[in-house]
Amino acid sequence: MGLNARQEAIQRIASAQPVKSAVDYTKTTAAELYGTNVFNLSVAKKLLSKDAYASLLKTIERGEKIDAAFANEIAAAMKEWAVARGASHYCHWFMPMTGSTAEKHDAFLMYTADGRAINEFSGKVLIQGEPDASSFPSGGLRATFEARGYTAWDPTSPAFLLEGLNGKTLVIPTAFCGWKGEALDEKTPLLRATDALSTQAVRLLKILGVQATRVNTTVGPEQEYFLIDRNFYLQRPDLINAGRSLFGAKPPKGQEMEDHYFGSIRPRILAFMAEVEQECYKLGIPIKTRHNEVSPAQFEVAPIFEGSNVACDHNLMVMETFRQVANKHGLQCLLHEKPFAGVNGSGKHNNWSMADDKGNNLLEPGHTPEDNAHFLVFLAVVVRAVNKWGKLLRVGIAHSGNDHRLGANEAPPAIISVYLGDKLADVVDSIVKGRKGASRSGGTLDIGVQALPNLPRDASDRNRTSPFAFTGNKFEFRAVGSSQNIAKPNTYLNLAVAESLDYVAGELEKRLGKKKNLHDAINEVVQEVLEENQRVIWNGDNYTKEWHQEAEKRGLPNLKNTVDALAVLGDKDVVELFKKYKVLTAEEVASRQVIGYEQYCKTINIEALVTATVARQQILPASLHYQKQLADTVTATKAASKSASTAAAEAALSEVGE
Ligand code: ADP
Ligand code: MG
Repeated sequence: MGLNARQEAIQRIASAQPVKSAVDYTKTTAAELYGTNVFNLSVAKKLLSKDAYASLLKTIERGEKIDAAFANEIAAAMKEWAVARGASHYCHWFMPMTGSTAEKHDAFLMYTADGRAINEFSGKVLIQGEPDASSFPSGGLRATFEARGYTAWDPTSPAFLLEGLNGKTLVIPTAFCGWKGEALDEKTPLLRATDALSTQAVRLLKILGVQATRVNTTVGPEQEYFLIDRNFYLQRPDLINAGRSLFGAKPPKGQEMEDHYFGSIRPRILAFMAEVEQECYKLGIPIKTRHNEVSPAQFEVAPIFEGSNVACDHNLMVMETFRQVANKHGLQCLLHEKPFAGVNGSGKHNNWSMADDKGNNLLEPGHTPEDNAHFLVFLAVVVRAVNKWGKLLRVGIAHSGNDHRLGANEAPPAIISVYLGDKLADVVDSIVKGRKGASRSGGTLDIGVQALPNLPRDASDRNRTSPFAFTGNKFEFRAVGSSQNIAKPNTYLNLAVAESLDYVAGELEKRLGKKKNLHDAINEVVQEVLEENQRVIWNGDNYTKEWHQEAEKRGLPNLKNTVDALAVLGDKDVVELFKKYKVLTAEEVASRQVIGYEQYCKTINIEALVTATVARQQILPASLHYQKQLADTVTATKAASKSASTAAAEAALSEVGE
């Protein structure tokens, strides 16, 4: 008998070998490889005049507009650098609201009248591109007849070389907007929200006596993913079209033995991971950690944190690198939140904090009472942001893929709460009780005078069930989906925190205006803010029924699915929030809601169509074939022997018939 498709695939997989990459670490070390394909600051310093370099640096460090006078010089340097390394093309790279990235390539070549060609790249072309905007989702912001869209160079994210087998492309990260400046992408709102946060954080720091020119948010996204052999993948229209299995049987052995997490990495997978890292090193992406995850065939990669804008670009580049390198290794990378039922799905733990321009982490508990007072102010700010704008954080992670994960027994629930750990929760408790004049542990905490107890930062203290957990000196937003562009959740988070910084700064100013000293003002405001927003703190197990009941009692929103969550973008206070901090206009907010609904419906519709197709084209023919086999077996058995039982075959026959 010939082999069926699955058996053939298994035969091919049985002889599959790890694939060797082009890089040999004994010849080029990882450190030497790092950043070789990036037009980074050290390259810029070498190739640019002093003034042009200083202008670029100011833009990157302070978020100031680039001085257009230097654009031609920077463009020429980029071109020289790229062409010398084998580039023939450049492209403006952007993130339309599709969840993925887009790129339109143009050759550097300019053709001369006398039949020659020269390489050219001007400042004008570097700064602005004009891709047609009509075929990207705009949620009504752009109609096809007014299709002009612009890409604008984002100098704060470095240009890089994309390697193809037959040539390289200079890639320029850009923002994408319509001709009136309406944001048609995910990057523009992130840049705006981070600016809003910076303004308010600098103001608050100033009140606290700290001079800063800029505050950026730092993000380290841990990325989970699945790898399966491509021979299997290509037989699955559901995986190909929907990114997840729509039919299937759970294998007898899943993850119950708990033997995959941190297990030894198989040679084929390790070869894949190493090549991904090499590609990422070349692109200046600071990959640090790799390991097996909980589910069979599931893995994780984590970089060192960077500024949120660059971290977001880098995460998109990592996801693209995964897809490409996997194919080279005969593997398929699945980034869907829930590729297979019955085993864990994938998330993206968005580690987040704020840092001033000197690199000080604003969520780092300090060594002096004064440092700790500052820490508690910023902690109170974040707790308030999550309590007041939990519904906004929820809609930032809402899409159909994540619906399969949030609330399931492996991922945080759809109720957004904050985990602080026992020690810090005790501190908060004693601050709040202090306000009421009674403390559980006897002593109340006088902020700015007393030191904090040592806060543990070890892994054992972590609550893996919380959607938003404090992990020592940063928050881990754990409910983000694995396939998502992290720009959106970080935009919404930064916006929520910007509003909260504004509020707390305002409260402090009010008290200082009434001649209160800073110490008393901080004590009062932190106490008040923590007391008012305490309901969002939950240190218990978020998977339990008790928490769902408790959360309801506390009045915390529980937006169970994408459709419920998207309604939030229609709430008046949310629209006002976006407008007030100039992150999105009312029209831009409305467009995000429309696109969210559209994408949800389209995804579900594709899944339904694939389900019908697979049922009709693969499952029905196979079951009819099996039905005939059973029928033949019954007839043949009866013909051969009157005493032989056909009960089992007949039972199966009627089951298959149904
Ligand atoms: P895990 O949570 O898996 O135990 P780690 O604590 O080592 O892992 O860190 C996870 C991620 O958090 C890493 O990407 C790390 O760079 C990032 N991280 C650490 N500090 C910060 C910070 N201040 N801001 C943002 N991300 C951070
Ligand atoms: Mg983590």
